[in-house]
Order: sequence, then structure tokens, then C-alpha cells
Amino acid sequence: MAGPRYSPNFEEYIVCPFDSAHRIMPVRLSYHLTRCAKNFQASKMVRCPFNSCHLHSVGDMQTHVIDCPDRSALERYKLPDKLPPVEPQPCNFTVECSEDWDSEPPAPTYNPSTYCEKAFIIRNPQGAPPAARREFRESEKKRFQENKEF
Ligand SMILES: [Zn+2]
Ligand SMILES: [Zn+2]
Repeated sequence: MAGPRYSPNFEEYIVCPFDSAHRIMPVRLSYHLTRCAKNFQASKMVRCPFNSCHLHSVGDMQTHVIDCPDRSALERYKLPDKLPPVEPQPCNFTVECSEDWDSEPPAPTYNPSTYCEKAFIIRNPQGAPPAARREFRESEKKRFQENKEF
């Protein structure tokens, strides 16, 4: 679907309801309308720049554009483009954790949760292959039975 070609910033501007030749930045709209309306005192009705179905007198239009429901919808739509890109949150937990695996840093702050997690992982036979785990179980059983005989 080939639409009309606009310059990238074209849609950032709002067409002035008083004079379609005027293109206004949304943030400047209220200021512009206040000034521009003075030149259009004689005109009867003007169209809302956000919805051409909204027809108001010059005086009413100045207040309408502030409350127009289509304006808030438009600005909600545009807002994400104007926000700076979200910076990735530094994941301190992951860094701290990976450092603790390889070495024992002289930690000035003792972190019990990190210690517990580490201790748990070491005891957990998850990494061992099934055969090794079975072998371990067998040897433990044997050791237990041998101890019982004493
Ligand atoms: Zn204007
Ligand atoms: Zn409107």
C-alpha cells in the first residue's frame, strides 16, 4: 500500500484550524491558536485540527483543542516516539552471582541468600549423569549397611 510520501517530521505538526497553511508543533498549538485566532475573528466556524467533524467558533476552538478527545488520542500515540529509548537495566544480581561462582571475593557485605543458593547448588546432584547418581546411591547404601554391621 503506497501512501503519500511525507517528510519524516510532517506528522509531528498539526494543521492550524484557522489556516490550513499553518503547521504547528503540538507543544506550540495553544500559543499559536491564541495568536492566530486574533486574525480570524471574522470567520464563523473553524474545524478542529484533530477531527474535521469538530466545528467550533473561533473562541470555542481555542478551548476545544485543549479538551478534544482526539487530541489526547493523537498525543498518546505519538508519545512513545518522543521518549528516549529505554536504557537496559543493569542486572546486578546476575553479575554478582557469576563472580561468586569462580572465586571467593573478600565480600565486605555478607549475602546470606547468595551463600545459601551456592551451597544448595553444590549439594544438588543435578549435573551428574544418571549412572553416576545411581552409583553414588549404591555406594551410600553399601556404606550404610556396612556401618550397620558394626
Ligand atoms: Zn494558524
Ligand atoms: Zn476536536
